[in-house]
Amino acid sequence: MIVTEQKKFEEVLDSLEGHNKIFIVGCGSCATAWHTGGETEVKEMAARLEDQGKQITGWVVVDEPCDERKSKKELSRTYRQQVADSDALLVMSCGAGVQTVALSGVNKPVYPALNSLYLARVERLSKSDERCILCGDCVLAWTGGICPVTICPKGLLNGPCGGSQDGRCEVDATKECAWVAIYERLQALGQEEKLLVYRSPKNYSKMIHPRRVEKKAAVPA
Ligand code: SF4
Ligand code: SF4
Repeated sequence: MIVTEQKKFEEVLDSLEGHNKIFIVGCGSCATAWHTGGETEVKEMAARLEDQGKQITGWVVVDEPCDERKSKKELSRTYRQQVADSDALLVMSCGAGVQTVALSGVNKPVYPALNSLYLARVERLSKSDERCILCGDCVLAWTGGICPVTICPKGLLNGPCGGSQDGRCEVDATKECAWVAIYERLQALGQEEKLLVYRSPKNYSKMIHPRRVEKKAAVPA
């Protein structure tokens, strides 16, 4: 899941300055699950903006606003008139959703209501932690399914640094050392021998932004 947080309402209001008629777009995927941009939060935002004298021309929670086809369908067809009546769109999704909405053919200014934080494991509705920085070259096969690139602040690939103390991380002692967690996991799986193999430095060129993938069309059988 992409974890987001709501911007301070004052910041949202600032960005909407000069725009009176607002159309709000929520996200039916991550932002709904994380309670930052689902139907409940969109309605709350609409009420708060109305309290500030804004007119809400309409709102929609798009299944996945980061999918241009879905955003286009809702904004250019189903809600075309409400979007046309607005001065600006406020999008309650991650940055990918905001940009997809902006590029989906709406000829209006588009503003974010959320900050995008990280790609997460969700333990419960209010607790998540970062688990993947999308390095493009996954190493989880030999680390027991625990990512040293993300969880070790130094991104070490061949065991712990010299600062690990009592199983804690020297960079943040409130956290377990990633490599202790990896060792314990591999030991539990009977796969400690994976630690004996030297791992070459990662190819970080795979993280040069912006990245783009175009999948080849499937060839019919
Ligand atoms: S190694 Fe870590 S950062 Fe890279 S893809 Fe795998 S989980 Fe994500
Ligand atoms: S103590 Fe462990 S998690 Fe922290 S920086 Fe060193 S190796 Fe990485």
